[in-house]
Amino acid sequence: MLKKKIYPWHNSIYKKIIMYYKNNVINKSIFIYSLKGNGTNVLLKNVSAWLICKKKKLNNCGLCNDCNLFKTGNHPDYYIIKNNKKNIDINYINELFNYISIKSQENSFKIIYLPKIELFTKLAIYKLIKLLKTNKKKIFFIIKCNKLTNLILNLKKICFNLNLNPPKEKISLKWLKQKNNNNNINEIKTALYLNNYAPLSANKMLSSNIWQLRKNLYNLIYNELINKNELFLFEILELDNLELYIYWIYTLITDIIKLKYNCKYYIINKDQEKIIIKLSNIINLDNLFFFIKKLNKLQYKIKNIKNINIKILLIEQFIYFKKIINFLK
Ligand SMILES: [Zn+2]
Repeated sequence: MLKKKIYPWHNSIYKKIIMYYKNNVINKSIFIYSLKGNGTNVLLKNVSAWLICKKKKLNNCGLCNDCNLFKTGNHPDYYIIKNNKKNIDINYINELFNYISIKSQENSFKIIYLPKIELFTKLAIYKLIKLLKTNKKKIFFIIKCNKLTNLILNLKKICFNLNLNPPKEKISLKWLKQKNNNNNINEIKTALYLNNYAPLSANKMLSSNIWQLRKNLYNLIYNELINKNELFLFEILELDNLELYIYWIYTLITDIIKLKYNCKYYIINKDQEKIIIKLSNIINLDNLFFFIKKLNKLQYKIKNIKNINIKILLIEQFIYFKKIINFLK
């Protein structure tokens, strides 16, 4: 086995993929679409390890020469394009072509794992599509995608496809609870919802200083809007990660709206119900919708205007936020 076992929510899909390979349902390329933070990378490394092992059953044996070479990252028939840069350009595909031209050694086939297809440039994808269409050699391509584009859809069409949804909430909550003993269930639920139900991202958030930053933000909002502490705006000027703050504020406003429509069940910030209830009593719906509109405009500006001063714009939002609260009082 690999050092890292697959996550519990991947047990059945792992077995399914293995059966597909055994029965030749997947004979060359598999394309897996999955959102970030669901542990799909670990699943696919285990699938690769299984493919490469000579004495495999349901899992790779972990002992044979192929397994040992794979574990150390030195298996000559396994190729992975890892890249932390923004783009994977045509040079990487040229390297891949060179690799393919070398005869396989340990097995009679090769495995090529492309974990971040969304980082490939247009030209690199065109060349890859051509390669997949014309390739006669026995090569298993494993392609993982977090973000679909029109061009990537063309690549998807020529592969065997799997869409991996985030795990069921119950499974994720159980796993997160085991990992985060110090957090209560409302905090765990909040982290999961804020991360689009991706358990790994939620876990990362709960165990990083981001979680504390978020708590601080809510304390600041509470002090400023409810206790009338005027220091808040100055404290914003000290903050980093402003786009994240905008996202959190956006979820707060939508939570207040949900409460106004008696949809408490759908609130994302479960751990902040106290402040959501208080704010819902002092802001009216029209102003909340108007505030959402302002936040959308702000996000548009951040995305489309270079070197924009986000701090000033965020402060502007809060001045408005204060105004709508005071307006009602
Ligand atoms: Zn083995």
